[in-house]
Amino acid sequence: MEIATGTTVAAVAAMRGNRYPVATRSNRMPCPYLSYRAAAGDHEFETERAYCTAVDRFVEAMRADVCNDRYDLDHESHCEIYREHAE
Ligand code: SF4
Repeated sequence: MEIATGTTVAAVAAMRGNRYPVATRSNRMPCPYLSYRAAAGDHEFETERAYCTAVDRFVEAMRADVCNDRYDLDHESHCEIYREHAE
């Protein structure tokens, strides 16, 4: 199967006859407090990094997976900062 550049994961899954699992997963949204910045306060980087606007600090790489709802992670369930600020 040839897949054109720019084809979404959901579209590929649909071509393969997998109608639901990937499409459902791709509909998940990252945390609304997540931002990407190259600088904040005394910190400055060459490229943008994950930044939590709820606590105004850069996010460690492993937590960024939670912020982006990657894998089986979910910011609503797995981030105490989100839960504190969402209440
Ligand atoms: S650290 Fe928590 S509250 Fe902040 S952006 Fe990530 S998931 Fe959201």
